[in-house]
Amino acid sequence: MPPSVFRFAPSPNGLMHLGHAYSALLNADLARAAGGRLLLRIEDIDAARCRPEYEQAISEDLAWLGLVWERPVRRQSEHFADYAAALARLDAMGLVYASFESRAEIARLAAARAAPWPRDPDGAPLYPGSGRMLAPAERARLIADGAPFALRLDMAAAIARAGALSFTSRDAASGAREVVAATPQLWGDVVLARKETPTSYHLAVVVDDASQGVSHVVRGNDLLASTGVHRLLQALLGYAAPVYYHHRLILDDSGRKLSKSTGATALRALRAEGHAPAAIRAMFGLD
Ligand code: GLU
Repeated sequence: MPPSVFRFAPSPNGLMHLGHAYSALLNADLARAAGGRLLLRIEDIDAARCRPEYEQAISEDLAWLGLVWERPVRRQSEHFADYAAALARLDAMGLVYASFESRAEIARLAAARAAPWPRDPDGAPLYPGSGRMLAPAERARLIADGAPFALRLDMAAAIARAGALSFTSRDAASGAREVVAATPQLWGDVVLARKETPTSYHLAVVVDDASQGVSHVVRGNDLLASTGVHRLLQALLGYAAPVYYHHRLILDDSGRKLSKSTGATALRALRAEGHAPAAIRAMFGLD
């Protein structure tokens, strides 16, 4: 059997906080227990928010925590051609269409309607699908005029093609195993790429996990609902499904998810205060 492959996949758009540390340590512990490999992947497709100095800080913080990962590190910004190739395959299946409404316009449409507008698991209003109904000549005119657009997955057609799907989700702390039905329809016609960014998180993560041979994905519960979209893209593109581990989120004192702007829980602030890596592990109940 080839060794299991784990990956920690942070976005370098801020300093790592305790939530990232928990995820990274669980990845490392589970990889070690499985005699597997540990990869670090830098998810930097958002050029406006990602910075090389944050990537540097991530490496320093992870090394301080005691992680050892393989080199070279994969940077998503260096693999746009791979995502474009996967997108072209989905397009050739007739599953991709262009939409021209901005996020603000979709929110306005949703707010203007009397009946409640369906929302995705993150609370954003679902795209109503108007781009799918555009006449080809109108679509071509908008693109030729330089209008911004997003390329979306035709979710109903994609599900009809792939059929019912499920994935294995294990609790990263207890190991409890559950087979979860994939419900990608909760997200509506998800964005796969934008005019200015030739991929989206969903597409890049699926292409990378497949091309890096990732067999075990360990990440927070906040991504459990997205896993259904990833499973669908894997099925359409003919990729194997990794085993998923989901872990609890580390919350702040008021019970909110930690955000990158919360300075107090930044790992380097804790380090500067004299906390040792073992104390960080102990905070999470890890030996
Ligand atoms: N880059 C994502 C994040 O920082 C994680 C993606 C994943 O683990 O699939 O939240």
